[in-house]
Amino acid sequence: MNSSRHQRVIINDTTLRDGEQSAGVAFTLDEKLDIARQLDALGVPELEVGIPAMGETERNSIRAVAGLGLKARLMVWCRMHEADIRAGAGLGAHLMDISVPASDQHLASKLRQSRNWLLAQITHHVALARDQGVDVCIGMEDASRADPDFLDRIADTAQSAGAIRLRFADTLGVLDPFAVFERISRLRAATDLGIEMHAHDDLGLATANTLAAARAGATHVNTTVNGLGERAGNAPLEEVVLGLHQCYGMDTGVDLRGFPGLSHKVAQASGRPIPWQKSLVGEGVFTHEAGIHVDGLLKDPNNYQGFDPELVGRSHRIVLGKHSGSRAVKLVLARLGHCVGEDAAQRLLVQVRRFVEAAKRPPLDAELLTMFREEHHGHV
Ligand code: MN
Repeated sequence: MNSSRHQRVIINDTTLRDGEQSAGVAFTLDEKLDIARQLDALGVPELEVGIPAMGETERNSIRAVAGLGLKARLMVWCRMHEADIRAGAGLGAHLMDISVPASDQHLASKLRQSRNWLLAQITHHVALARDQGVDVCIGMEDASRADPDFLDRIADTAQSAGAIRLRFADTLGVLDPFAVFERISRLRAATDLGIEMHAHDDLGLATANTLAAARAGATHVNTTVNGLGERAGNAPLEEVVLGLHQCYGMDTGVDLRGFPGLSHKVAQASGRPIPWQKSLVGEGVFTHEAGIHVDGLLKDPNNYQGFDPELVGRSHRIVLGKHSGSRAVKLVLARLGHCVGEDAAQRLLVQVRRFVEAAKRPPLDAELLTMFREEHHGHV
């Protein structure tokens, strides 16, 4: 492997902040509390739980999460405004992310301000936040399009002001893993602060970029359950945790064996169903139909298993379909209490293929039994 083995990466899950920021998503208080509890139970060490400036209802929900007495440290998200920072005080959160525009694009076209203005503001606002009793992370919005020299200056200023961490936000999801590795390595060499990677999946690279950041020395990474989040979403918690473990041997302390329940909960509470073939959590990703694969799996799971599905609380499932062989037919029928011979299995396969062509899905057990009985009676 490599020298990153045994390095620990801290997961900061933002399902309850950036996840909920996804267009059209709003969790009820009960849903928010349930999601926070389940994330904590899996061992996720940090949760970003809301935006205090949104109003009293949001602040009450943050207080309620804090009132659960979880092991996880809680973070709130603020713009670099005095009112935002004051709104985040006294809610029971341990950390505050103060988001600042890092690119000239955002500085000039969003705030109409200069780089020097920003640096002066950071000093002032970090001090104000620390006075409220929270640890401060400076969230460098649009860091991926910012001048790397300017990010170094933000890092210096933030550290002098007493911040403990920088968030590198690929706000628009425009970087690739090689660029992320380069940018985070550079920042790692320039500062002693913690570095947190915040990736978006606009190019389908959020997980790859997050892993690249960890390889380059990021100490923290942002995730969301099922990859929920703005536009194409954030890096999925489940992919990041398993990817760090499988590819680099990096430990996060998160146990995904209880993940399916949380994944379903977030899918239901967000109104965003999980696609059938979505990695790790999709219904179909441990489902096998093809005769060659089923035969290989039955002989030795390692023939067609890159990792044990048990690691994410799942198991292999064999279904019958167009590409099944007679061995799978016999196996599935045996599970349903019927012993069939080779000829009967072959005849049943013809029916199964006809069924799948029409229904565009594998037959349910009851449907298989009906086929079996019809076939059986027709040949007695
Ligand atoms: Mn974001």
